Amino acid sequence: MDKYSVKCLLCGEVHDHYSLNCKNGDQSLLRAYYTAKQLIPTDMPGIWKYYNWLPVDGIIEEGSGRTVTYKSEALASKLGLNDLWIAFNGYWPEKKANLMTCTFKDLESFPTMQRIREQEEKRIMVVASAGNTARAFANVCSITGQPLLLVVPKESVHRLWTLHDDNHSVCLVTVEGDYFDAISLAGKIAARDGFVNEGGAKNVARRDGMGTVMLDAVLTSGKLFDHYFQAVGSGTGGISAWEASLKLLDDGRFGETLPKLHLGQSLPCAPLYSLWKGVDAVDAACPEGMYDDVLFNRKPPYALKGGVKDVIEASGGDIYAVTNEEASAAQELFEKSEGIDLNPAAAVAVATLVQAVESGAVKPNEKIVLNITGGGQKRLMQDYELKQLPVSLEVSAKDEDAEDKVVKKVSEVFGI
Ligand SMILES: [Zn+2]
Repeated sequence: MDKYSVKCLLCGEVHDHYSLNCKNGDQSLLRAYYTAKQLIPTDMPGIWKYYNWLPVDGIIEEGSGRTVTYKSEALASKLGLNDLWIAFNGYWPEKKANLMTCTFKDLESFPTMQRIREQEEKRIMVVASAGNTARAFANVCSITGQPLLLVVPKESVHRLWTLHDDNHSVCLVTVEGDYFDAISLAGKIAARDGFVNEGGAKNVARRDGMGTVMLDAVLTSGKLFDHYFQAVGSGTGGISAWEASLKLLDDGRFGETLPKLHLGQSLPCAPLYSLWKGVDAVDAACPEGMYDDVLFNRKPPYALKGGVKDVIEASGGDIYAVTNEEASAAQELFEKSEGIDLNPAAAVAVATLVQAVESGAVKPNEKIVLNITGGGQKRLMQDYELKQLPVSLEVSAKDEDAEDKVVKKVSEVFGI
């Protein structure tokens, strides 16, 4: 029997393991369903601890890390909470946290890469990103040697650091424009012969990889949560947390609670908040002015079946909007109380929790998990030297020949 099957949430039809879209044209996510109904942790390294609920047949031994979950004392006490758990994603050796890109995007990139290897994919993988996803894919490709074309907004290039000396498998292109411009250009290139798109939110490996945050939190704490907090751009992390919770409920050993999802966005660019609340919270100058522009996404998977709207409704949750002042105060509160630095996006999650405590949306004795999606970069810099990934080519989103220029550069870089 197969380890898992991939099904459309609307028509229920079983698809090929690697499908991204319903072949009947449904506007729905495909979801992976596992033969093993119970979560059985393995003793394999990093994320592969959760191998039996990852849509892979094999692992990448080297370099994989995973979430570390612990019960908060200092922050919990400051917020008047008695059962607050922190799911930390990043570098924090004192807690054995070893996601070496300091972001939970590593949880997506390793399973995605493993599937690329299973398919003996010879085409060049194309990834568009505002920075953290790009760093995570560059990391795993530097380990496996799989050729990678990264398309990144020019403004985000500072996030493209690496610990590897050899990055010959990565071709980094910067785009003068925003994340959406980068996605558009990457999409056009991925549609050409010789290139393949990794699929974003539609890729079950990315979602189930991110879902391991919830698996780790529930396995560590012993029970499902009342509330889940995360800062989101596309909202895919929220979808993943929900899908993981459904599996854990089905497992039967972790209680019968499904968590309310509390997803935080950064003002003045909060498109999911706008859609959910029916207000306009997206400034024309976006992503300018955000606390962290990795949280901006013009086309989040909101309305499709199994998307953000569905999971917020099903969970009885909410979407929040956080000002820069709130995020900054939350960052200071967290770093001082918990003793580790945060990526700015994670501070938006902390600020979301603060809002929910103040409004009474969460109660002091309820069980809460706070997903710290990235942290420990300053801590990492005490132990390692961070190197910038070299830029292979700069193009403008307005340049009609941008696509051809990128393809030509890729041929040069990879000798094809
Ligand atoms: Zn379908």
